Amino acid sequence: MARTVVVTGSTSGIGLAIAAAFAGKGDNLVINGFGKPEEIKAIVARLESISKAGVIHHPADMTRPAEIADLIETAAKTFGTVDVLVNNAGIQHVEKIEDFPIDKWDQIIAINLSSAFLTMRSTIPLMKAKKHGRIINIASAHALVASPFKSAYVAAKHGILGLTKTAALELAESGVTVNAICPGYVLTPLVEKQIPDTARARGMTEEQVKTEVILKAQPTHEFVKAEEIGALALYLASDDARQVTGTHISIDGGWTAA
Ligand code: NAD
Repeated sequence: MARTVVVTGSTSGIGLAIAAAFAGKGDNLVINGFGKPEEIKAIVARLESISKAGVIHHPADMTRPAEIADLIETAAKTFGTVDVLVNNAGIQHVEKIEDFPIDKWDQIIAINLSSAFLTMRSTIPLMKAKKHGRIINIASAHALVASPFKSAYVAAKHGILGLTKTAALELAESGVTVNAICPGYVLTPLVEKQIPDTARARGMTEEQVKTEVILKAQPTHEFVKAEEIGALALYLASDDARQVTGTHISIDGGWTAA
C-alpha cells in the first residue's frame, strides 16, 4: 500500500532525491520548498509520473510555525495520515562568529533545527494513532564534528541529533522510529553557494576550496551522491529497520572516522 511521505525542502538537492526515491516505491508525496511556480509544477509532474500515486507541493516556509503546522495538516487531510516524515530543509552561512549576522543565526536555527521540532510536534500524534511511523532527520557530518566559520549550522546539526535521540526514546514503544542521516559533502546548490564565501573567509581560490577544503575532509575524495542518501532513507523507512532508532547513520566517505 502506498505510504504518505512528507519531505521538507524537497524542491532541490538531497530532499528532491529522497522524494524521488520514495516515488520509485509508489508512495504519495508531499513536497515542500521554494522555487519558481513552473519549476515546482515540473517537479510534481515528474514525481507523479514515477510514483503513479498522489503528489502535492506545500509552500510552508520552515521559519513559520503556523505554516509548518498547515503542511502536516494538509498532508493528513489529503492522504489520510503521514507515514514517513523527512526533515531535510536546510541552509548554510559561512562567516566567523564575531561577524556572523544575528538574523542569519536565527534563520539557520529556525530552518535547520526548530522546523524539525515543529513538524514532529504535529506528526507524532498521527503516527502514534497508527502505532507506526518513521521520522528521518537529515543532519550532517557537522552534527558530529565542527568546521570553522559554520557556527550556526554546526550548532543546529548537533542539536538535531539530540532531538532525534529524545524523540526516539519518547516513541520507543509506539512503533515509531526516529533516526538521523549524517551526509558528508554532496554537490548540491547548498554546497555550490558556499564555495565563494569559504574562499573569501579562508583567502583561497574557489578551486582550492573544492580540493583542499571540501574533498580534503572526505578520505574517499569523492562527493556523496544525493541518490545514495535517498536509498538510505528508504532503508530507514523499511520494516527491516524497525529496531533502528535513536541513532544516526553516517554517509560521509570516511570523514568522521578520522
Ligand atoms: P539545497 O539548497 O539543494 O536544498 C535546500 C532545500 O530547502 C530547497 O528545496 C529549498 O527550497 C528548501 N528551503 C530552504 N529554505 C527553506 C525554508 N525557509 N522553508 C522551506 N524550504 C526551504 O540543499 P541540500 O544540499 O540538498 O541540503 C538539504 C539538507 O541536507 C540540508 O538540511 C543540509 O544541511 C543537509 N546536508 C547537505 C549536505 C551537502 O553537502 N549538500 C551535507 C550534509 C547535510
